Amino acid sequence: GKPVVAIVGRPNVGKSTLFNVLAGEMISIVKDTPGVTRDRIYADVNWLDRDFTLIDTGGIEPESKDIIISQMREQAQIAIDTADVIVFITDVRQGLIDADFKVADLLRRSGKPVVLTVNKVDNFDKFMPDVYEFYNLGIGDPVPISASSRLGLGDFLDEVVAHF
Ligand code: GDP
Ligand code: MG
Repeated sequence: GKPVVAIVGRPNVGKSTLFNVLAGEMISIVKDTPGVTRDRIYADVNWLDRDFTLIDTGGIEPESKDIIISQMREQAQIAIDTADVIVFITDVRQGLIDADFKVADLLRRSGKPVVLTVNKVDNFDKFMPDVYEFYNLGIGDPVPISASSRLGLGDFLDEVVAHF
């Protein structure tokens, strides 16, 4: 079948926003506060001549710090088990937190291809210095995007399909 691409990342980084932009319609639910996203949602995506199935692993987004970490682990495990490529989304505005390093370790050990995506880079000139920080996760080159402003998505998709 088609390659499967799973989106993982902590609550509020923009997983559902990216999913919706790529799916081309409002399928996944975007919330202004972390807390509610519908369970795993699938969409067919086409980029140039490549087709893939995209999964938003967001699920019900927790608010407590402990639950965030355990849910991110669970999401990452689902992605490792089911996806051909994992899109790990982080947030340039919030920077890196402990949970990001824990998930990065899990993903690295899986050996699956990971596209380290740094979202909310709404202004490339202004935020690029902060993007370099994400090299510290040790899972490759950070790819800057702004899901809501639709910036960097072409380069991001090139990076995703390069792993098929
Ligand atoms: P999720 O919890 O990871 O699924 O995140 P959501 O997609 O629900 O987005 C959480 C919040 O971040 C919402 O208020 C979005 O509008 C906002 N957001 C998403 N992408 C961007 C972006 O590229 N830039 C900015 N500034 N905000 C964004
Ligand atoms: Mg969501």
